[in-house]
Amino acid sequence: MSTADAIRALTAGNLIHLPTETVYGLGARADDPAAVIKVFEAKGRPRFNPLIVHVGTLEQAEAIGAFDDRARVLAKAFWPGPLTLVVPAKDTNAACDLARAGLDSVALRMPAHPQALEVLKGVAFGVVAPSANRSGRPSPTTAADAADETGAFVDVTLDGGACPVGVESTVVSLLGDARYLRAGAVTRAQVEAVIGPLAADEAEGHRSPGRLSLHYAPDAPVRINVENPSPGSAYLAFGPVTYDGPVVQLSGARDVNEAAARLFSALRAADKLYPPVIEVAPIPQDGIGEAINDRLKRAAGFVG
Ligand code: AMP
Ligand code: MG
Repeated sequence: MSTADAIRALTAGNLIHLPTETVYGLGARADDPAAVIKVFEAKGRPRFNPLIVHVGTLEQAEAIGAFDDRARVLAKAFWPGPLTLVVPAKDTNAACDLARAGLDSVALRMPAHPQALEVLKGVAFGVVAPSANRSGRPSPTTAADAADETGAFVDVTLDGGACPVGVESTVVSLLGDARYLRAGAVTRAQVEAVIGPLAADEAEGHRSPGRLSLHYAPDAPVRINVENPSPGSAYLAFGPVTYDGPVVQLSGARDVNEAAARLFSALRAADKLYPPVIEVAPIPQDGIGEAINDRLKRAAGFVG
């Protein structure tokens, strides 16, 4: 399937699998509630959880959302790339109510993947594209995993290879004081280097609508920060390991970027062994490590 097929399907109001540098998205045109509703249905996603609208140009982003100087300078610094900006909604038809979950704000991102950009530049509308997994499950980072999760609902699966980043975009809110809502490859420190200090975190749950506690979860229960795996468990290692049970290596060289790129496929691979439990090595908080630990805590059901 080609980007032209994807453009045709989107234009007709149908769903596609869109490869991005973060994870595979389940794409639909953001201006068509009948298309957007298919995304919620395919994912089994609660309607109060707003979607990110993906765009191919900054002009398009500025037509959908109200950009201030902070939004512009962040977009210049990190777009195309794994940063989502939450700004006041400007064109509430371009990002329909269902896409925004009724909020008067909108989340916007320009992804860096060449095929995603080709599709987004080839259409006259924004594209909602939440991760292509069923709600609550690990995000797909290959076309095959996307097809396993929600293949029955899409017209076109674009194969863009394995996602190089591997965890979902950083989300920064620019409604009032700037806040870091979701950790991703663009770190808090990188955002602060561009727009100055971010506001302190609020209680989880108030920070970002729709961020559910149990999320990114495989079928097996997940235990995190495990140095010495228990007998029988499937172990997600980070560096050299002596355990003689099943091991899926996140990064033998202890590289957090490599671990992020492998995280969700490692959880899926471990799950396919039907272990009683999946145990995960401690991952350092540096760089994208904060995003890995955020996803792992949710996979383990620890955030609520
Ligand atoms: P995803 O699940 O990757 O599509 O990301 C969607 C997430 O972006 C939501 O769960 C929210 O955390 C965040 N988000 C999207 N729209 C908004 C918004 N208008 N205000 C605040 N956060 C938002
Ligand atoms: Mg998701």
